Amino acid sequence: MVGNKDNKKQNSPIKDWRRSKIIATIGPSTNSYELVVELIKSGANAIRLNFSHGSHEERTAQIKWIRKASKQLGQPVAIIQDLQGPKIRLGDFEGIINVHKGQTLPLEYMADFSKNGHIPTQYDLSLKVKRGERVMLFDGRVHGIVSSIKDGVVYVDMLNDGILIKRKGINVPDTDFKGDVITPKDKADLVYGSSQDIDYVALSFVQSAEDIKSLSSLLGAMNFSAKIIAKIETKSAIDNLEEIVIESDVVMIARGDLAVETPAESIPIVQRKIIGLGQKHATPTIVATQMLISMTEQLEPSRAEVSDVATAVLVGTDCLMLSDETASGNYPIEAVKTMQRIIRYTEMHSPLSVSFNNETDHSMQTAISEAIIKLAKTINAKAIVAETKSGLTAVHIAAKRIDIPLIAVTNDERTVNQLAIVYGIESYLRPAEKKAANKLTDWLRDNRVFNKGDIVVTVSGKYPGVVGTTDTIKVRMLE
Ligand code: PEP
Repeated sequence: MVGNKDNKKQNSPIKDWRRSKIIATIGPSTNSYELVVELIKSGANAIRLNFSHGSHEERTAQIKWIRKASKQLGQPVAIIQDLQGPKIRLGDFEGIINVHKGQTLPLEYMADFSKNGHIPTQYDLSLKVKRGERVMLFDGRVHGIVSSIKDGVVYVDMLNDGILIKRKGINVPDTDFKGDVITPKDKADLVYGSSQDIDYVALSFVQSAEDIKSLSSLLGAMNFSAKIIAKIETKSAIDNLEEIVIESDVVMIARGDLAVETPAESIPIVQRKIIGLGQKHATPTIVATQMLISMTEQLEPSRAEVSDVATAVLVGTDCLMLSDETASGNYPIEAVKTMQRIIRYTEMHSPLSVSFNNETDHSMQTAISEAIIKLAKTINAKAIVAETKSGLTAVHIAAKRIDIPLIAVTNDERTVNQLAIVYGIESYLRPAEKKAANKLTDWLRDNRVFNKGDIVVTVSGKYPGVVGTTDTIKVRMLE
């Protein structure tokens, strides 16, 4: 059981609990049970499986390692299935292709370059792009404009010189996918995911809230209990930001593709806006990509990277993500340790400066959260303890970014893992019963996380284990 007596939290003083969480991406550099254990021990709260690469067989082994390591370490870990989405890539060809400004380049789905000189793509762009739209090749290094589309071939007028290498990314920032962002590969991956122990599904290249609704109905039809992470990495997503934040369970600022599809200089402002909207709507946020990228090659991060991580923590993001650093870098474990150190130092030495617009809505969840926080502050409570089935009560309290430790207790294994990526929450699995929160706090007192005489505020419902029945706030002095 996660949160059992071996739990590492039993020995760590409550003031040392880290509030911003870490996601590590598994890949060739971390592909073993032992390295998964090291990732978690070093501070990873979640592991991302990037479905742009790898086979289902590899994934099944990795999921088993993560669950085994989580149990062994007594720590909840969220598993994220990151779908490839309409990530368009160049196809296969030999060597390097030189392209020149002014040249018209023919792009064709699965073309054989050696036969007709058409550049192969892994997606039929001719079905989606229109004349006048931008096409960025090799992950944004080479730019062009669609001049015509004929017989399945997209002709692109090149705007600069450059080279093309097989399988590199293509971005089409002006193209409307009209709700078609979940590809046949994603659907096959979802069928696989629904048979596995997965906590979150991340949807790539989201354009509007409709994409989240489509994924949600697909998951429902498959009886797949994962929550949805919307990856914000397109211009359209920026145009529809607030609706997407409201519709999603979590949003990721996927800065890699976002910086190709929108001006790189706009990213810091967009990042703040998304984190603020996330706090406003109780939607957790993840800052992703290149956070410690120089650590793929060297042991020390750059000064700018340290500052980037600290800035994300200061504005109160829920989670920070490592990609290449842990998937293919030379120092994956050191990267997690470094990120953990920067987060801890920042949290200990500077108050959070939340960037959200503190509007109050009229939902029951918000009203309860505000009441419990006010009470806990007034009586100087040591912690807030939320009994929760779906995790929603705890997520709403966490969204207020309080500096009072927040403990969630749930009987749902999915929820205990899903809460692992939410700001400031320590989640525990316990059977659904009356007084689950009291029993947990007694156990934490016995394990010296709390002391006799400490005051905690608990929030619970009349019907333990039933979603939406939270209705009781209690103050308790530990004996
Ligand atoms: C990104 O583009 O920043 C991102 C996280 O997506 P991926 O790693 O899947 O390309």
